[in-house]
Amino acid sequence: MKHKIYCEVCRVSFVYRDEVEKGKVVVCTVCGAELEINETEPEIKASRYPQDPETEIRNRSENFARLRDYTFNEDKELVIEGLLGKNEMYGDFYCPCRFENIPEHVCPCLPTRSNEVRKLGHCY
Ligand SMILES: [Zn+2]
Repeated sequence: MKHKIYCEVCRVSFVYRDEVEKGKVVVCTVCGAELEINETEPEIKASRYPQDPETEIRNRSENFARLRDYTFNEDKELVIEGLLGKNEMYGDFYCPCRFENIPEHVCPCLPTRSNEVRKLGHCY
C-alpha cells in the first residue's frame, strides 16, 4: 500500500509504503521525524510522536542521517546541546547555528533537507 502522510515538522507530505493504523509510529522520509498516526479516515493524520525532547531530536537526527547516508562529525554533541537549548527557550528545535528561529530552520533545516550537505560537504 502507498500512502501520503503530511509531516508537521518539515511541512511536506511524504510517501509511506506500508500499512497504516491508528497509533502506529512512522518515520518521515524527508526529515526523519517520528510521527504517530492519529487518524486514517477519511485521510491520514499524523503528529509528532510525544517523547522527551532529547530522545526526539536524537532519533530525528539519527533517522535523517540514515536516510541520507550521512555521518555525524565531532560536533554532534555540541549541536544536540544547542538544539535542546533552543527547544527550551523557543519551543522548537531551531538550528543553533542560525540566528532566526523560523520554521525553515527547524532541524533538519530546509537547506539541509534540500541537499546543502552535498554541496558544502557538511551541515551548516
Ligand atoms: Zn518531515
